[in-house]
Amino acid sequence: MNKYIFVSGGVCSSLGKGVAASSIGALLESRGLNVRMVKCDPYINVDAGTMSPYQHGEVYVTDDGAETDLDLGNYARFTKGRLSLANSITTGQVYDSVIRKEREGKYLGKCVQVIPHITDEIKSRIIAVAEEESDTDVVIIEIGGTVGDIESIPFIEAARQIIHEQGKNNAISVHLTLIPEVAGGELKTKPTQHSVKTMLEAGIQPDILICRSPVMLDEATCRKIALFTNVDKDAVFTSPNIDTTIYQIPIILFDQELDQVILRKMGVESRHADMRPWHSVMERFSSRQGKVRIGVVGKYMEIHDTYTSLYEALFHAGLECGVVVETVKIDSSSLEGIENADEILGKNAEGGNIDGILVPGGFGQRGINGMVKAAQWARINKKPYLGICLGMQIMIIEWARNVLAWPDADSTEFTPDSKRPVVSLLEEQVNVKNYGGTMRLGASETVNVEGSHIFTAYGEKRISERHRHRYEFTNKYKDEMEKSRIKFSAFTPDGSLVECTEWPSGHPWGVAVQFHPEYKSKPMAAAPLFRDFIAAVKKNK
Ligand code: GLN
Repeated sequence: MNKYIFVSGGVCSSLGKGVAASSIGALLESRGLNVRMVKCDPYINVDAGTMSPYQHGEVYVTDDGAETDLDLGNYARFTKGRLSLANSITTGQVYDSVIRKEREGKYLGKCVQVIPHITDEIKSRIIAVAEEESDTDVVIIEIGGTVGDIESIPFIEAARQIIHEQGKNNAISVHLTLIPEVAGGELKTKPTQHSVKTMLEAGIQPDILICRSPVMLDEATCRKIALFTNVDKDAVFTSPNIDTTIYQIPIILFDQELDQVILRKMGVESRHADMRPWHSVMERFSSRQGKVRIGVVGKYMEIHDTYTSLYEALFHAGLECGVVVETVKIDSSSLEGIENADEILGKNAEGGNIDGILVPGGFGQRGINGMVKAAQWARINKKPYLGICLGMQIMIIEWARNVLAWPDADSTEFTPDSKRPVVSLLEEQVNVKNYGGTMRLGASETVNVEGSHIFTAYGEKRISERHRHRYEFTNKYKDEMEKSRIKFSAFTPDGSLVECTEWPSGHPWGVAVQFHPEYKSKPMAAAPLFRDFIAAVKKNK
């Protein structure tokens, strides 16, 4: 059985289309169906890897090393289906392969056009996901952007063709819109009516509407929306604003019987839904006690999307440790201009003491010394520290500068002619010219040293985590570093690259890794290092 659900959005962006699509996936999985998720992104970049966080937010990395849209991170947190390069389709990829085929003469003299060649390429990529694994039941395809955007037209057209070709039972359209509230508290349905009209102009009658609204829509409003949009009255759903967590959304939609309506429209029989995992997430959410304040010291702090997976992983760890995790976003540059990091991190700081420091991944020179200061502050003040990717490189630079007293220790990323390049490029990266897709990317094996924090966290010697970086610890400094008691506690299986660095005993918990554990964190199972970091912070407080 291959069924297709297209999720589009109207009225405006940032309505939570990714979470809505993921929630549909979660509901269908709760009924035992095998779901695969696909994101279509209308931009011309081949992937998200070359975009600035200001443009795009986080780059989510899959096991096979694809640098994708952050919505794939939502899919990974809500659903179980495998995610890879094939699950992220961009205009850039589609044109890239069509143009390549044209150059190879594959179109046999035809004039190559948006319809049918671009749309065929989109369709074949979607169908390839459906057919990749024989037990796939449903593919959910989220179309990025807002209906009516010029750049998403080929994707909407491909959806129309698939719906037409597969037949009503096999492919449906779910459309997410906004119900704004105007002065006086009145809810307005007109933008939704117009949005559905735009869908109709593109040849798609939405089967289901999910309306983002400040409050649950009442019967009369749903009936009105249904009347104007040709959607069944029981197929108009609300995704209300909530002040709990996005992980409540599957339950909210389940309570409105969204899954039942979807299954009915697709003629699918399934077992009863097992929503226990989602209820238990919410139980853990409400029974958290106390609060810890984690200073996330990075760049681009003014936009939440930059570190979505990381913030989610901290939240998951809080659920598991029974404590509210408050993330305090600290722009590392702000630490550079001040005499004492205590001003921003210590007990007199705004909002009070920071209980633990997390230095996330990042690129480029700006703000580096502020991160080093934050690591030093955590080390000296015995506050738990978690370093991710760049955060491990920072831990090494801080130790080399302040413990080994090598003031010129640096990464060649920041000081190419550094006299003590404790972090440097791998040989294979030295001559890389293209920026797209050329880092150390995707899953690889790591071997943990017994007795280390990382070994305790995973409870296993061999683990697999995902990477996204060019620079590595420079091995020629290993002996001297180790003599000064810093610990290297995980390596690539051939022993050639350091994957984890830890502060020695005497400090409560300082662990930094070269990979990104946040990508695999789930609301039901926090990433082990995030869990142990928060547990250490809680204990230390
Ligand atoms: N800029 C560093 C590198 O390329 C770290 C990258 C990261 O944190 N993802 O190695």
